[in-house]
Amino acid sequence: MDKRLLALLALPLALQNSPALAQPKEPARASAPALHWAQFPVRVYVEANGERDQKALIVLAGLDEWVDASHEKICYIRTRDPKVADITVRFVAGRFLSADAPVIGETEVDWSGSTMRKATIRLAEGAGTLEDLQATAAHEFGHALGIQQHSSDQCDLMFPVEVLHDSQIGDPLPEEAPYVTAHDLSLLAAGYPQLLRR
Ligand SMILES: [Zn+2]
Repeated sequence: MDKRLLALLALPLALQNSPALAQPKEPARASAPALHWAQFPVRVYVEANGERDQKALIVLAGLDEWVDASHEKICYIRTRDPKVADITVRFVAGRFLSADAPVIGETEVDWSGSTMRKATIRLAEGAGTLEDLQATAAHEFGHALGIQQHSSDQCDLMFPVEVLHDSQIGDPLPEEAPYVTAHDLSLLAAGYPQLLRR
């Protein structure tokens, strides 16, 4: 069984035009294998209890973006039992997952051959707005569904840096959260040539 950890970095809104966005530190993983789940629906467990119930729904809305973009070829069922989950989502208190870098989300994938065995997503629950949380979750679900690469186009959901909004002053930009683009879908389709290629 192979294992890899993929991380999503955040960038403060004020720096959104900085060169860092154009040149992400993490290079695209052109040589990474395209992975796939053996069957759908996958079973998804999202850590939820009381005040996290709303966040759990936001997170699943991020997964719904892939369901919609794939015309429901990608689908899931939510399980309340983490032991039977294919994909597990956990929240981490605070703005970032790491003290060393502004990591807001990461996904650990376990696979053998080209088949996904398990994926665990960790999300920083204090990073940005709920829209940011959904966008971060959608990005991480991209990895959890099999995408091992990042996009070099910042319009794509699978771009490795996300611009966060300030949760204190609301959303100062009327921009739409990143959504699954045709290129994002093509990255996923590499692992599902029969299911997703048109
Ligand atoms: Zn990523």
